[in-house]
Amino acid sequence: MQSVKVSEWTKNVIKPDEIEKYLINGRDFIDEDVIVSQLQANAKPDKARVREIIAKAMQIERLEPQETAALLNVTDNDLWNEMYAAGLAIKRKVYDNRIVFFAPLYCSNLCVNNCAYCGFRYENKEEKRRILTMEEVRQEAVAVINEGHKRMIVVFGEHPRSAADYIGETIRNIYDVKVPVRTGYSAIRRVNINAAPMSIADLKKLWEVGIGTYQVFQETYHKQTYADLHPLNTIKGNYRWRLYALHRAMEAGIDDVAVGALFGLYDWRFEVMGLLYHAIDLERQFGVGPHTISFPRMTPASGSSLSRNSNWLVSDENFKRLVTVLRLSVPYTGLIITARENAEVRREVIGVGCTQTDASTRIGVGGYTAALQALAGKKTDEQEIDEQQFTLGDTRSLDEVVRELAEKGMITSFCTAGYRCGRTGDKIMGLLKGCIEGKFCKANAVLTFREYLDDYASPATKAIGEQLIQKEIDEIKAMPFFQKGRMLETFERMYKQVADGERDIYI
Ligand code: SAM
Ligand code: SF4
Repeated sequence: MQSVKVSEWTKNVIKPDEIEKYLINGRDFIDEDVIVSQLQANAKPDKARVREIIAKAMQIERLEPQETAALLNVTDNDLWNEMYAAGLAIKRKVYDNRIVFFAPLYCSNLCVNNCAYCGFRYENKEEKRRILTMEEVRQEAVAVINEGHKRMIVVFGEHPRSAADYIGETIRNIYDVKVPVRTGYSAIRRVNINAAPMSIADLKKLWEVGIGTYQVFQETYHKQTYADLHPLNTIKGNYRWRLYALHRAMEAGIDDVAVGALFGLYDWRFEVMGLLYHAIDLERQFGVGPHTISFPRMTPASGSSLSRNSNWLVSDENFKRLVTVLRLSVPYTGLIITARENAEVRREVIGVGCTQTDASTRIGVGGYTAALQALAGKKTDEQEIDEQQFTLGDTRSLDEVVRELAEKGMITSFCTAGYRCGRTGDKIMGLLKGCIEGKFCKANAVLTFREYLDDYASPATKAIGEQLIQKEIDEIKAMPFFQKGRMLETFERMYKQVADGERDIYI
């Protein structure tokens, strides 16, 4: 596309009325003075109060900002240990011992923005630019499916060539890819999107092609920092256009939306408060909060000195703390930890309540196909690294991570059933809050884990996986929930179908 057309397009992306309609008396939901005063007023919470707040979270109740502020200010190590234990207990209560896996797919690194921390920003001349054709998208999908994945999050820079129509085509093409296995086929059953904020009309296009979750990270909720890192003459420079991206998505009919902040740009305590206020405002305006929260820590990106030198980089210890406070503050919301983090950190934060993660991850545009070509000696790894946005901390395969979790008694779930049975948005949140969704999920986790063990697992993973799956089945048989009606019978019939080679069977 000609540069003049790019600048014309850029000027027309933001629709001011699709920001203003969500404001209250001209104000957005991030009141910095209020957040700062709440953090100050709760600077030295006493033990008894902290324990009351923990007890409230254990009842699967969302915390109020004052309560979250108190938890963020805890200094006593014993109390932190209690909070870590509570984080895991809450996760177990709502999500049991399941971890959901997904694979990111980078489709394009073309970008009209200039975010100071990102390798894709337009001024970064070190980055080789590339946008996948639909044939390449399909090849990437095949490579991801062949690892055993069933869910994807597809990532795009912001550019007219990767706007809503391209994203929609991408979703359609990925859903279309079917790889025969046993007597059924393997496919990506849920396509989530991480892309720039869009208008309601564009978001409706994504809804029509079956988008899963729509994810937008605010990066930082702190307005001055936001302005410093996102030039005002770029689309991303508009803080409020981004702040209400997910409100527009809800209005467009997309049930599941996902928030996030990029940790390392500003004070981590402030950002946790921002995330909480974001969840509260979605609940207030649409009756349901975010489906998941992400908390990526900034990692070194090509051509970005900020990504290495920021004054706000978060230590491993504070990272574990912030994840724990989020777990307690929104007990029923999914928490995503990614392969940006190294294996050790991932273990730590999964242990305080994360629910989703990725593995076998490639973040170069066309990275999965490139990895296969490198294996076959046709392309070098350096070529892929040229097209990456930042660096990964954990490059282990899906099989390795699934095995490690299984050894700890955690079952990998590839389930995508909830969405396809209409258990999304407020319906799934209601079920999660009542700890009911977990029962369906337990059964579906077993069915999809059976598929994985038979289709993709290495012998070592299969060995430990068989023990785990048997334990899960025994638990299901003992659960009163499955004694009702013909639930157990149905589950057992489905399990046999899957073991016999049928695919994509779910309750
Ligand atoms: N362009 C879209 C946007 O900005 O919303 C979506 C794609 S962008 C590549 C996805 C996310 O990557 C950003 O929201 C940001 O939080 C994250 N990111 C950017 N630079 C990063 C870095 N150096 N380390 C970790 N995450 C980073
Ligand atoms: Fe572009 Fe997103 Fe990277 Fe910013 S974070 S430069 S908008 S790809």
